[in-house]
Amino acid sequence: MATLGPDDESFELKQDQELRFEVENAPIEIEVTSGLAEIFGVELVKSKKYLFPIGAKGAVFTWQGCAITMKNARKNMTYVSKDTTPMNYYMNVHIILEKQRDEAENDSKRGPITMIVGPQDVGKSTLCHILLNYAVRMPGLNRKPIFIDLDVGQGEISVPGTIGALVIERPATIEDGFSQLAPIVYNFGHLTPTANMDLYQHCVERLWKSVDERMNKDAKTNASGMIINTCGWIKGDGFKCLLACAKRLRVDNILVLDQERLYQELKRDLPKTTDVVLLHKSGGVVDRTRQYRSEARDKRIKEYFYGSRLKPFNPHSFDVKFGEVQIYKIGAPVLPDSCMPLGVTATDFLTKVVLVQPGPSLLHHLLAMSFATTEQEIIDTNIIGFVCVTNVDMQRQTISVLCLQARPLPCTKLILTDIQYMDSN
Ligand code: ADP
Repeated sequence: MATLGPDDESFELKQDQELRFEVENAPIEIEVTSGLAEIFGVELVKSKKYLFPIGAKGAVFTWQGCAITMKNARKNMTYVSKDTTPMNYYMNVHIILEKQRDEAENDSKRGPITMIVGPQDVGKSTLCHILLNYAVRMPGLNRKPIFIDLDVGQGEISVPGTIGALVIERPATIEDGFSQLAPIVYNFGHLTPTANMDLYQHCVERLWKSVDERMNKDAKTNASGMIINTCGWIKGDGFKCLLACAKRLRVDNILVLDQERLYQELKRDLPKTTDVVLLHKSGGVVDRTRQYRSEARDKRIKEYFYGSRLKPFNPHSFDVKFGEVQIYKIGAPVLPDSCMPLGVTATDFLTKVVLVQPGPSLLHHLLAMSFATTEQEIIDTNIIGFVCVTNVDMQRQTISVLCLQARPLPCTKLILTDIQYMDSN
């Protein structure tokens, strides 16, 4: 154990307590020196040092009690909380889900499909992580649940503006999260479902079809079920959007965090076969400002291209001639009803694939690389990944792109998104 400096601190946590931290001024380093502890369901290895950069927020929780040292604790916001009752509720949910998984496995049926809903900053993503980590930590059971992220605002699988699914086979790592092996990603292209509700629901439907297929091929994944994260948009159209997603994804359980009204509305409007449960949020969940969210999005995109401190990537930069690719956007402006051709609906416009002339307006935008081979397939096909446009040269008729793989691009069909990133590396 390293010696403690004037800004460092050691903590003795009793059972069911947690050490909460918000890293504001200097990176912290956490080390468990005795006992057992976890962060959002990921067990910490004793004597291993975990680094948390500025901006990180979290909590070290212990079911049994533990001792921790924290470097730079006094330079940041840190405190020990005894009020961790929600963790007991979350553990109960995990136990119930395990029972449902056992039953599904015995009857060769589909396991529990669980959706987590609530306003912004109530701990939805955190609860998803806890439940997924607990599922894959079950000794000898080899659980393989699917994590679905419908939160286009943050986009934990791939980048913001996407929805996706990931088979979880092992616990997340503290610094890099869940292993991103073979995710299924659909490009929506906007930061909120309001931007194009018809397209959002279309993407959810396509995602369902892909996930359904994958589950049917793997009995373990099928019985392990799904954990679904959602956006914090829950009022008015947001509520309708949640209902539609719950129906499309054949949800069995809905966990509502911290919103009795939403809980009552869901109970009222969903079939009685869907179990709706109201849960308290943890007192540790931190409100995030608009600026924090925007910075978190940038960080997510940067990580997508450049990797993390422990697993850095070396992205490539190269030029692509306008003539080598076709760039599309999804959604044409909707005409007023009186001008709408017979038999054509607003949905047809909102999901219409339109060819885009390359030009300076592409600069800094992310373009999705599509698996589609024809224009008709674009709307229905998942994506390979993204490039970022770092320059547009009208004279040479080229765009420069930042791309995870070397030239040539793996496809010729690209989709323009609203998501922008200024590459400063
Ligand atoms: P939501 O998905 O509902 O918007 P998150 O799960 O992302 O909310 O939580 C918001 C923030 O609060 C995150 O930065 C998360 O790390 C932090 N957080 C969640 N639970 C705790 C806790 N018990 N103690 C400290 N921070 C927490």
